Amino acid sequence: MKNQIRLIVAILILSLFAVDSRAQNYALERKEMVAKQIRARGVTASEILEAMREVPRHLFVPDKYQSMAYEDRPLPIGKKQTISQPYIVGLMTDLLELDEEDKVLEVGTGSGYQAAILAQLVDQVYTIEIIEPLAKTAKLVFDELGYSNINAKIGDGYKGWPEKSPFDAIIVTCSPSHIPQPLIEQLAEGGKLIIPVGESYTQELVLVTKKNGKVRKKDVIPVRFVPMKAPSGKSY
Ligand code: SAH
Repeated sequence: MKNQIRLIVAILILSLFAVDSRAQNYALERKEMVAKQIRARGVTASEILEAMREVPRHLFVPDKYQSMAYEDRPLPIGKKQTISQPYIVGLMTDLLELDEEDKVLEVGTGSGYQAAILAQLVDQVYTIEIIEPLAKTAKLVFDELGYSNINAKIGDGYKGWPEKSPFDAIIVTCSPSHIPQPLIEQLAEGGKLIIPVGESYTQELVLVTKKNGKVRKKDVIPVRFVPMKAPSGKSY
């Protein structure tokens, strides 16, 4: 009997070590991801690099893809949607030039990874997802990781979140054929909006700025995002 108890205790201790060493491996993979995929490609803002070293991306992907979470690619998250490639997350975050006290809107919560990166950098994050099961899964992860500054809702992000506007920055992670007017309206003076715009899968990442009431647009790079859906099921 005593020996059995000893054996059980030993197994418990060993499995704790196993969990711990896996977490450490992921931390190492994150460090490498940041060095090779993010920093080496020109995203150098130290707060962003730090956030990407900290947020456990593997917890935002389905179990079967966890071991691929730090690779240089997007991954499926179910419902025909994807978590963006780490570099694209870093680049879009960098282009927003965020401040600690900012309030940011994200359209397309998906896995919740981009929202978590934002939550490390700003005061409040508002994020909208149109596919209910994805929104629910992301919310569970936010709660598990203790992100109290992420406000998530299910809905159509084309319309933005007028009650919480204006936003210092807006990030859109699904692609409409044109820039939604409600999002331009909900952008604060001096604010920045980053959005992939285009027909089906040929899109351009566009940076929109609002200064002295004037709206300016600048193309950044060609990208490929999932389409922005209307509640009817069609694409915007
Ligand atoms: N930022 C996400 C990327 C998810 S992919 C991440 O870090 O994982 C884009 C997401 O946009 C998908 O989950 C898709 O369902 C969602 N989406 C598409 N159209 C939308 C709309 N009109 N409003 C809100 N979310 C939308």
